[in-house]
Amino acid sequence: MESRFVERDAEAMADRYAKAGVGCDLALRVYTTRLLGEDKKLVLHGGGNTSVKTVVPDLLGDDVEVLCVKGTGWDMGTMEPPGMPAVRLAPLRKLRAREAVSDEEMVRVQRANLIDPMAPNPSVETLLHAFIPHKFVDHTHSTAILSLTDQPDGEQICTELYDGRMGIVPYIMPGFALAKRSAEIYEANPKAEGLILHKHGIFTFGASAREAYERMIEMVSLAEARLKRNRKAVFVTAAPAARLNASSLPSCGAERRSGQFLVRMVWSGVTTPDWL
Ligand SMILES: [Zn+2]
Repeated sequence: MESRFVERDAEAMADRYAKAGVGCDLALRVYTTRLLGEDKKLVLHGGGNTSVKTVVPDLLGDDVEVLCVKGTGWDMGTMEPPGMPAVRLAPLRKLRAREAVSDEEMVRVQRANLIDPMAPNPSVETLLHAFIPHKFVDHTHSTAILSLTDQPDGEQICTELYDGRMGIVPYIMPGFALAKRSAEIYEANPKAEGLILHKHGIFTFGASAREAYERMIEMVSLAEARLKRNRKAVFVTAAPAARLNASSLPSCGAERRSGQFLVRMVWSGVTTPDWL
């Protein structure tokens, strides 16, 4: 897949939002969030989320360091600044010292630290964004990444494919435990440009909106190329074409199972699509 980042468009959006009192960091965050959200291969079932660490004035006018992170109920493809609620960053980071935090407590802490108490609930993956030190963090449920990780040897394939450029995180249900484990895996390899979350999706990091976005495009493109190679291998070694059916093609089967995985999670009430 190709990067759709256009410097001129990014600047135009920053200028337009500046007139409405929205800072440049948040404006650029909105710009690349839309680029990700408009690509259906990246945001299966409306999932995925993004964030930026920045400084905003609180309700009394004092500057405070915050995480602006996708709020529930907002679509990435049509994101606007109110869909990225600002949460005080220090209390979120402080939670990391805990052994465990329930989903209910996590939501309570996040809501209690919103700059605007009327803002939507921050994503359930807010803590993962907070525990990663980079300014811009992008997360998608890329179809290609799901197809790759949903194979029996998915972790090994990703380890070889990304060769240290991405941390590989085993499957853990979204929430505090996943955030904590992901941060540990990143810190063990601080040169990593992102994380592959087994049977879940991909995170990329950057100092700028463009860097995090273009790393997403590059890493997903590597996964797509790897899948293509697999397909070729199947066609070359397959027995008579008449005996081929969908279940005999690993990549197609993996794609179908990945979809079922997400649907299962939603149906079982574990999460809602825009929480993922
Ligand atoms: Zn997710």
